[in-house]
Amino acid sequence: MNVLVVGNGGREHALAWTLLRSPNVKQVICTPGNGGTATLKGCQNHPVAVDDFEGIKRIAQKYNVSLVIVGPEVPLALGITDYLQQDNIPVFGPNQAGAQLEASKAWAKNLMQQAQIPTAQTAVFTDAETAKAYVKTAPIVIKADGLAAGKGVTVADRVELAHSAIDAIFAGEFGSENQTVVVEEYLTGQEVSVLALTDGQTIRSLIPAQDHKAIGEGDTGSNTGGMGAYAPTPILTDSLKQRIQTEVLEPTLATLQKWGIDYRGVIYAGLMITPDGEPKVLEFNCRFGDPETQAVLALLETPLDELILACCQQRLAQFPPLSWKPGVAVCVVLASGGYPGSYQKGYAITGLEQAEAKGATVFHAGTKLQGEQVITDGGRVLGVTAVGSTFEQAITNSYEALDCIQFKQMYCRRDIGFRIAKL
Ligand code: AMP
Repeated sequence: MNVLVVGNGGREHALAWTLLRSPNVKQVICTPGNGGTATLKGCQNHPVAVDDFEGIKRIAQKYNVSLVIVGPEVPLALGITDYLQQDNIPVFGPNQAGAQLEASKAWAKNLMQQAQIPTAQTAVFTDAETAKAYVKTAPIVIKADGLAAGKGVTVADRVELAHSAIDAIFAGEFGSENQTVVVEEYLTGQEVSVLALTDGQTIRSLIPAQDHKAIGEGDTGSNTGGMGAYAPTPILTDSLKQRIQTEVLEPTLATLQKWGIDYRGVIYAGLMITPDGEPKVLEFNCRFGDPETQAVLALLETPLDELILACCQQRLAQFPPLSWKPGVAVCVVLASGGYPGSYQKGYAITGLEQAEAKGATVFHAGTKLQGEQVITDGGRVLGVTAVGSTFEQAITNSYEALDCIQFKQMYCRRDIGFRIAKL
């Protein structure tokens, strides 16, 4: 069968690469894809933007695809699933109503409260003065309600910083329609990402992952889209996994059902495991995580297309247990110098084949093809992913492969996995 993947990041390259390992998948089409999907055997790109629903529909029909997988949150929040389903195109990803789980933090908080899901104490405000009057102590967390490309959260260590974050939101920093603020209790602990797949009736987790959001070593500096990830994290014991299933994932799905939302897609819970061992939800996302997906899919043995089709066709309860390669996977992100601030693009990338020859898989994110040459085209450029029988081994394998790669102003953290490798 043919599958269409919407998006152009490392996550989408990893999805395409995983799909093509399945015997059922003949061809993957990416809209728009990147330099990695352009050079992946069995995969082809079409230059259609992720919010060009009509263009995506045309490609889906032209290639008679059996499945569309939507990578990023923006088209989901804009209703791509509702749009394609009008023409009976099978889509993996929630409809616009379900995508509010990520597109509105206030909506998601309301769901968590209704479902009694453990989370930080929260207050929601629609004007700056009342929000600022509420914030009297720090540290405290200020969140823009709507989508903000990962930039809408401020962990404020001073009240003044919290106040200026509130002012920035109401001044329209994240769009003039983004005029609701969520003020949250500051939580400490270890963050984990649990990506779960649902068919609207049953929900099943993939192996749990952790990522490094900060740009600097030791998890310091500005937050980014993610500088590296690894899976499965040993932070989640079997009993914690079970608690997350019964206290977070199942009540979330049950509440979506109660609200009449037929959710078929990924529910990604970003959780804090507090120092006393309690799992608390920081956020929900309505799609695969990036770069967690690169590490998680590197270990998946079950054919991904079969699993996802079972979700689309509401057969997840009958689907066999997922099968995983033994060992662990680590993904280290190579970024353009200056990211997450401003950076240059268009630099030639060398050493990709040598890196793969070391046994790693190099997932492209911000790259494109210029003739035969792969060049940089974004902030996060590549995700070098390697497996190993231990975290130390997988980390060594990733960095040995990564050291073959070069481009001007290349930046990476050298400490991905430090929390785990020290265990
Ligand atoms: P979110 O988009 O809500 O996950 O927030 C982005 C990041 O901000 C998270 O990955 C955490 O590192 C941090 N964060 C969010 N909420 C809290 C919280 N209540 N306490 C501490 N840190 C938080």
